[in-house]
Amino acid sequence: MSAPVANPRPEILAVARLPPMLATQLSAAFTVHERLHELDPAALAAAAPRIRAVVGGGESKVSAELIGQLPALEMISVMGVGYDGIDVAAAKARSVMVTHTPNVLNDDVADLAIGLMLCAARQLPAADRWVREGRWPTGPMPLARKMSGARLGIVGMGRIGQAIAQRALAFGMSIAYTARSAKGQLPHRFVASVEALAAESDFLVVITPGGAGTRKMIDARVLAALGASSPQKGILVNVARGSVVDEAALIDALERGVIAGAGLDVFEAEPNVPERLRALPQVVLTPHIGSATSQTRQAMADLAFNNLAAHFAGQRVHTPVPECAAG
Ligand code: NAP
Repeated sequence: MSAPVANPRPEILAVARLPPMLATQLSAAFTVHERLHELDPAALAAAAPRIRAVVGGGESKVSAELIGQLPALEMISVMGVGYDGIDVAAAKARSVMVTHTPNVLNDDVADLAIGLMLCAARQLPAADRWVREGRWPTGPMPLARKMSGARLGIVGMGRIGQAIAQRALAFGMSIAYTARSAKGQLPHRFVASVEALAAESDFLVVITPGGAGTRKMIDARVLAALGASSPQKGILVNVARGSVVDEAALIDALERGVIAGAGLDVFEAEPNVPERLRALPQVVLTPHIGSATSQTRQAMADLAFNNLAAHFAGQRVHTPVPECAAG
């Protein structure tokens, strides 16, 4: 009689509620343990020696402690481009591969950034309310502000920043940017400091990664510079991470009229948004929907799955994070 065959399906831990488009693919190929680290630590301890991969979303946290609890861990697959919640240093120290899903979401996030700029400048949510609430017969809305031809400052000129710039050119905007280094191959003007960039921008769009390197980069001084950029004062748009903006300083700047308005997709303690921010009419708020279209989420799910499938087939993963791509 032959020995029992070991379970050929690798076991993986999902650290987020996975969308059906990813969950279905995963459960066809792997044994998936859903959020045991939160729901059932005893069951996690029992399954830990067999768990070979972790899968999560862009906002998922994978700490050094969790990595330490998983002795058989080989890879972490993130369905999202941002991976600031993953302790990549701890993963690398254990030779654990980390992958993410860059590029497939550039269009959607750039579209949303332009949408938030238009909404904040042309007051589209307020205009919608003006009609719905029957206020139109009482008179016209206050005049809004022109976006075409204005000065755009982009904080972070990576994949998505470049997609935003491409769209802004069609609006006849002049474009300057800041990043860690100048991009000589791009036609846009580099400004070394974010404060100097804000001082010459009608719209300041933030699209850097989150994490320690960018924490509260948009602070009271940057907001004051944005406010002083013209008599009309500047508008802030954040589609990066809530951590990049000092939210208390932003609320203060908005309440005191230091800047003209804001369009925000991400928040410091999302999904909780401060009441003071929600009360401000000159702010347009969206619930972290940068990549939230069915087409893009499908592409992200496919890439997150294909990275896992490649790894377990003994092939190179498609999109390692930069820290894991080298060497
Ligand atoms: P990317 O290609 O890596 O570009 C990031 C850019 O930020 C680079 O130009 C980089 O500069 C710059 N940067 C990094 N640290 C900086 C610092 N300390 N100071 C100034 N600039 C800095 O990333 P991406 O694909 O464009 O994505 C950017 C981020 O967008 C993601 O990490 C994620 O947090 C966010 N995002 C949000 C949503 C949403 O739903 N709202 C969706 C997708 C992504 P260098 O080029 O000089 O290194």
